Amino acid sequence: MSKAIGSERSRVIETLSSSKGRGIRVRYAPSPTGIPHIGNIRTALFNYLFAKNQGGEFLLRIEDTDRARLVPESVDKIKESLILLNLKWDEEEHQSKRLDIYNKHLEILKVKKLAYEDQGAWRFKVEKGKNLTWNDVVHGPVKFSSDVIEDFVIVKSDGFPTYHFASVVDDHDLEISHVMRGDEWISSTPKHLLLYEAFGWKHPHFVHLPPILGSGHTKLSKRGGAKSVIEYVEEGYLPEAIVNFLALLGWAPKGDRELFTLDELVSEFSLDRLNKNSPIFNLEKLQWFNQQWLKKLSPNDFYKKLNDKFPHAYASKVTLSVIPLVQGRIGSIADFPKLADSFYKKPPLTNPVIKAAPLSGATISQYAKDLEKIDWNPDMIRAGTAEFARVHSVETKDLYRSLGVATFGNLVTPPLPESVSIIGKEETLERVSELAKKKK
Ligand code: GLU
Repeated sequence: MSKAIGSERSRVIETLSSSKGRGIRVRYAPSPTGIPHIGNIRTALFNYLFAKNQGGEFLLRIEDTDRARLVPESVDKIKESLILLNLKWDEEEHQSKRLDIYNKHLEILKVKKLAYEDQGAWRFKVEKGKNLTWNDVVHGPVKFSSDVIEDFVIVKSDGFPTYHFASVVDDHDLEISHVMRGDEWISSTPKHLLLYEAFGWKHPHFVHLPPILGSGHTKLSKRGGAKSVIEYVEEGYLPEAIVNFLALLGWAPKGDRELFTLDELVSEFSLDRLNKNSPIFNLEKLQWFNQQWLKKLSPNDFYKKLNDKFPHAYASKVTLSVIPLVQGRIGSIADFPKLADSFYKKPPLTNPVIKAAPLSGATISQYAKDLEKIDWNPDMIRAGTAEFARVHSVETKDLYRSLGVATFGNLVTPPLPESVSIIGKEETLERVSELAKKKK
């Protein structure tokens, strides 16, 4: 998508301003050195939300000029992460395909005597005693002195530009209006300002995002949550939940509403609600969002996602009746087997679980006999259980606990009358009788 070099050069020389009236254009500019973690993708999300809110464009720029650190598969992983979250980019650039543009710009700096050769590399000559300032959209005025900046390399001896040089040339050439990126690039920005000035270009707005921190207020570690979006999706988190969770890490909507679709985030997003302080990654919060979005899925959509995650394992009509009982009780699709497998097969009865069934073997066995006589539907199971409790002076909740242990091998179960009516009378009574025997 790069433009003809001739026109490129004349444009560079003619123009003193980067604003060509193309409106809002932002870029997500990952280096393909590995799979981006969720915090990095948040930068992509904020860029996307801002661009789309403004009716602007969101570019994906692969910054692949550091050949030593390049991991070729990571380009696909970066794209997969964005696609999973539905963050569609409008344009795509690869810096390694733009070397002629950087070379043209190196020539300009040479002519201006602002670049000199050093051991096969090219350095930018930094003028000392300059004040370098910008008004950061998040942090307000930021000041640096050029005295702390050494002459820095702009083109390496392998002919590839450095990050600083390529990033500035591209942000200008691609008419980027806002550079939104992590805080760790604040200390690079003064170098960028020197380059913009050297070319006579107006610089874009800078929006530096505070990093997401781990629970100990330290850098987010892999264990603390710095996994990739791909891994989270594999673990059963819904893209809708991940997007919703990430959007609220460092940005606050108006009011206290928390649940937003991607489109709703697009219409709500604004730069003035970005937070100056680092947000803290909280896995429970992600789980909560996931639970909320799982609840909202239609049984059919849930069924589709379940089958994507566990191909064939639950592909049956029964699953459509199981889903409404389980959907609101799990934090992720990955938890479905834990709560739902007993619908499909008898669970193991471990000793501690058997002990947790409160009633005696004799009572449980009698309960099974009484249940046998009733019509097998949730209302009758409920009525039959209440009646048994009354006649035998036991607590209804103890009956349900024993029924739960027998049928699910667990005290945590979906609602029992509905669940056992799906499991079926014969199978349920068999499980209850087995528990009764084991209690003796
Ligand atoms: N390639 C840089 C990174 O990986 C981009 C920084 C920027 O957005 O300017 O984070």
